Amino acid sequence: MFEVVIGLEVHVQLNTKSKLFCSCSTEFAAKPNSNTCPVCLALPGALPVVNEEAVIKAMRFGYAIDAKVNEVSRFDRKSYFYPDSPMSYQITQFYKPILENGKIEITSKDGGTKFVTIKEAHLEADAGKSIHEGAISKVDLNRAGTPLLEIVSGPDMRSSDEAVEYLKKLHSLVRYLDISDANMQEGSFRCDVNVSIRPKGQKEFGTRVEIKNINSFRFVKQAIEYEVERQIEAYEDGVYEEEVWQETRLFDSNKGITKSMRGKEDSADYRYFPDPDLRPLIVTQAMIEKAKEIPELPDEKCKRYMSELKLKEYDAKVITAQKELAHFFEVMLEEKIDAKNAAAWLINELLGRLNKLGLDISQSVVDAKTLAKLISKIEDGTISGKGAKDVLDYMIEHEEFDIDAIIEKLGLKQLSDDSAILALIDEVLAKNKDKVNEYKEGKEKLFGFFVGQVMKASKGSANPKKVNELLKQRLSS
Ligand code: ADP
Ligand code: ZN
Ligand code: MG
Repeated sequence: MFEVVIGLEVHVQLNTKSKLFCSCSTEFAAKPNSNTCPVCLALPGALPVVNEEAVIKAMRFGYAIDAKVNEVSRFDRKSYFYPDSPMSYQITQFYKPILENGKIEITSKDGGTKFVTIKEAHLEADAGKSIHEGAISKVDLNRAGTPLLEIVSGPDMRSSDEAVEYLKKLHSLVRYLDISDANMQEGSFRCDVNVSIRPKGQKEFGTRVEIKNINSFRFVKQAIEYEVERQIEAYEDGVYEEEVWQETRLFDSNKGITKSMRGKEDSADYRYFPDPDLRPLIVTQAMIEKAKEIPELPDEKCKRYMSELKLKEYDAKVITAQKELAHFFEVMLEEKIDAKNAAAWLINELLGRLNKLGLDISQSVVDAKTLAKLISKIEDGTISGKGAKDVLDYMIEHEEFDIDAIIEKLGLKQLSDDSAILALIDEVLAKNKDKVNEYKEGKEKLFGFFVGQVMKASKGSANPKKVNELLKQRLSS
């Protein structure tokens, strides 16, 4: 039996207006090479100046994960040459990162919770992009110099599911903190996965392999599972030493496999040294205060939804996992509807329908106020739950949102008027005198029969709750 050991290095692109060391815009998909200047093009004589907004955002992340925020940190040069990096080195933090020793709580394999440690997180400048078109390669330096926060976890995860849990938590957190848009398709949240195995009970870690630059949760899971299997097989075949060595691999998402890319560089290969153009980064009291402006975070929110609103743990977790979803829910509650109803309708009905359409909450045509109004129509007895589902389907299909008009058009208005329902009840009871007698002699299951008959007499329009109440009254008198 083997134990899987996973540590993740995540590159989060900070959502600052300008780059880390110059005032160029960080706008995505701008005209190639339009957002560049002497600093990010590394022209001789140009000097970098650190962007305070990026530093504050990194610090804010630090406070949110209970990390040590270093009041003095430093920038270093990591030397390597690559066509999309004009400097021939990357400015990063190697000897003294801005953050150390944080922690993030996740749901573990056994359903309990556990902490993943964050060894450190450091600020660094992103590289540009190479675009390969057949035999030609082009370079776009718009991204060169964009601020990244690289977040390095301890080797604390023990399964692919735990790794994905951690990533989702981290993804949710940076969005709540509004320090990154964390858009995985656009590359603003990318991750390197370190994987090793060891026989259960062995103290030392096995040899780790690093899989570079994965940009989806599903691929992270697949890459880990493939890699674990490959390593276990090598172990069992007695060729672990030969086949598993410290290297960098790439994940091929078409084939679902990892492939060797290069041997893992030693840090000595990068010839790290302090960047002589940048002074030590010293944070001020004003920056600390700004960084400590932290909104209510998912875990806190989840606990509050459970204690204040009495939501079930599952519902509270689903809703708070995504900032947009929690916001949507809170706007719904402004309409003074029941919180549990709101949660159930949001998760089961709206999200269920969006899922089928491959959409997420931000793409919903039905907004929070409209969904809440629809729920209030059930709560005040105007329509049934079933009727409300029809209205929701209609709104999504036709992109029409006048609830009263749709209720009218679909003929969904419930009969809730007491005297009208009582008239139907009396009619049904008069037609079924013998059954009424049987009921009164103890055959209680006939109650359902009476309800059915009344509903039928109303052509399904009677409010079932009212029918139940009024029938009970009538039959006990
Ligand atoms: P380096 O100094 O070579 O970058 P680090 O100690 O900083 O190595 O670790 C890089 C990442 O690899 C971290 O996320 C860490 O948790 C992870 N890691 C380290 N050792 C192992 C291992 N044996 N198995 C899996 N992951 C590991
Ligand atoms: Zn620039
Ligand atoms: Mg490292």
